[in-house]
Amino acid sequence: MNKGKLFVVATPIGNLKDITMRALETLRSVDYILCEDTRVTKKLLTHYQISKPTISYHHHSSESKIKEIAKLLEDGKNLAIVTDAGTPGISDPGNRLISIILKRDSSNDKDEIASPRYGVARNDTIIPIPGSCAVIAALSISGFPTDKFYFAGFPPHKNKRQKFFKELAEMEETIVFYESTHRIIKTFSELQTFLPQREIMLARELTKQFETIYRGTAEQVLEKIKKGPSKGEFVVVIRSI
Ligand code: SAM
Repeated sequence: MNKGKLFVVATPIGNLKDITMRALETLRSVDYILCEDTRVTKKLLTHYQISKPTISYHHHSSESKIKEIAKLLEDGKNLAIVTDAGTPGISDPGNRLISIILKRDSSNDKDEIASPRYGVARNDTIIPIPGSCAVIAALSISGFPTDKFYFAGFPPHKNKRQKFFKELAEMEETIVFYESTHRIIKTFSELQTFLPQREIMLARELTKQFETIYRGTAEQVLEKIKKGPSKGEFVVVIRSI
């Protein structure tokens, strides 16, 4: 049975001021901070003069690392998990760890970390400390209907791309997804092919010095990004039909 707590702490997506008082309080109070990249999180911790032992935890962390983390909780240690930016678990590490901890909690066998049994997991082990999230920040300024929306994560890199964009074209809700610098031009060429009429908002470098918002059809936005700066982190929002 876990005795410690795991706080899932959102950190800024750019502007370091975008962190909540509760997040800072939590990072100051826990015994260890699990970080996607300890070097990135050290910058945040240094900025806020927080000195705390960190543990690396990412998408490729081994089962033995997860057991080590679960053991810390069983020993009554409080942990925070953070990622490089934004909310853990949203296209970021966190979900697998949480799922395994909950299953361990409900299992009699502490070494059985992938038990399919549910039902008696304690509800007070995992605590959200909400804050920045690029998807939500972009949706909030889109002006598009958000009573329902579809979050598509990142478009696949290779052969499933056509299928991905064809499926998006069938959807009536507002759609939002992430894209990286390397594929933003390619993505807009594909949006031009598969969703030529839809109104799009492209949010680049949200909350950072060179924040830029482009609006228009895929063709119009593509023209703008080809002319302007096209490096950075991006969220694409497509208006519902
Ligand atoms: N968990 C994070 C969140 O809550 O926003 C998202 C992590 S995901 C691995 C990283 C992607 O989020 C980037 O490739 C980019 O598409 C988007 N992103 C993160 N920060 C951003 C920013 N400041 N401006 C625009 N997009 C951003």
